[in-house]
Amino acid sequence: MSVIVHKYGGTSMGSIERIKNVARRVAKWHSAGYKVVVVPSAMSGETNRLLNMAKEITPLPHERELDMLASTGEQASSALLAMALLAEGIPARSYTGWQLPIYTDNSHTKARIISIDHKKILDNLNDGKVVVVTGFQGINENGDITTLGRGGSDTSAVAIAAVLKAKECLIYTDVDGVYTTDPRIVSEARRMSTVSFEEMMEMSSLGSKVLQIRSVEFAGKYRVPTRVLSSLTDPLIPLEEEMISGTLINFEEDKEMESAVVSGIAFSNNESRITLLDVPDTPGIASSILTPVADANIDVDMIVQNQSVDGNTDFSFTINHVDFQRTVNLLKDVVIPAVKARDLAIEEKVAKVSIVGLGMKSHVGVASTMFKTLAKEGVNIKMISTSEIKTSIIIDIKYMELAVRSLHHVFGLDAK
Ligand code: ADP
Ligand code: ASP
Ligand code: MG
Repeated sequence: MSVIVHKYGGTSMGSIERIKNVARRVAKWHSAGYKVVVVPSAMSGETNRLLNMAKEITPLPHERELDMLASTGEQASSALLAMALLAEGIPARSYTGWQLPIYTDNSHTKARIISIDHKKILDNLNDGKVVVVTGFQGINENGDITTLGRGGSDTSAVAIAAVLKAKECLIYTDVDGVYTTDPRIVSEARRMSTVSFEEMMEMSSLGSKVLQIRSVEFAGKYRVPTRVLSSLTDPLIPLEEEMISGTLINFEEDKEMESAVVSGIAFSNNESRITLLDVPDTPGIASSILTPVADANIDVDMIVQNQSVDGNTDFSFTINHVDFQRTVNLLKDVVIPAVKARDLAIEEKVAKVSIVGLGMKSHVGVASTMFKTLAKEGVNIKMISTSEIKTSIIIDIKYMELAVRSLHHVFGLDAK
């Protein structure tokens, strides 16, 4: 019988009653003959609670210990789910990432999965058991627990589905699919029955937290049929031929259908902008600034270097807010003395809003419609970056929702 992987997010696992509901859903699939692997997240709020306690101890907690702590949320929810399944009369066993093991690289708090030993999973499935595997975690070559970055249980699930060559990876969450934008911000957002792999990659990398970017990468690399659907409203088990709910990631280019110019709006209020002021404009300056940042495993997103005046220039870049304090410390301690910048200008929290669409490849004037719309709303743009299928802007957080709503409307995405 087919292997199926279910992933349940924090809200789906958010209370004992919800965990029992998850067990009932999994029991249905098991009884229908599927070999089921379940990947739960921590109960909602738990990962934040753990990370906040760490921050109360010290503003920059040791990253190895942070992973020891943050990974416990998934261990607890996995054990509770296995108990709930057993209580339903379903044979089940839970494993942590290190028990299998799931091997990752050494980047604590944002580790990448390198390989998964799936022997224990297969043995248990062949014994008729449901296997529950903690999301979000693995171990590195030293045997230390690592975590995969916020939202990382999606990636655990898709990676496990890839090694098991599962029929589908079902990402059960608190919305019933991928929408044209976050339906919690724009009530007119529309659910898409399929989303192209390229668009999903962009949406995830630009802040739509419905799927973690690395889960989409895995899905693409190993062609894992991956579907987003609701644990709260979707039927317990769809019949084979009716597996049409939610949103399926589509890997094939649909030549018949003309792509929408803009098919989705992504946004994030979790960006920080940092500007080095009056840096001498000499060859190698970008490298002197960004190499130490990259060596510290901090991802830089947008970069702008201005026209130089009197041989000096301003150099701005954005990063994810999780890395804010580390970046500022690094710039002050290492980079500023090395490049002789005059000062640092910091915006700790700014918003990024992006329009995404495969159709942007073949249409001109899309970005200018975006800028015109924002100008009409009085929104000042601080930075712009573009690629073939997206345009992103950095703006003040207070304008983020207004910008998302007006762009959603202007590009014809509102539900009729
Ligand atoms: P889980 O805990 O199940 O992993 P997340 O909170 O990580 O759930 O992701 C689901 C949330 O993603 C939704 O509640 C929704 O607010 C948000 N979201 C952002 N962009 C989108 C989008 N384009 N489509 C659907 N949901 C989105
Ligand atoms: N519990 C982790 C988080 O809150 C992982 C996940 O939910 O996917 O980020
Ligand atoms: Mg998530």
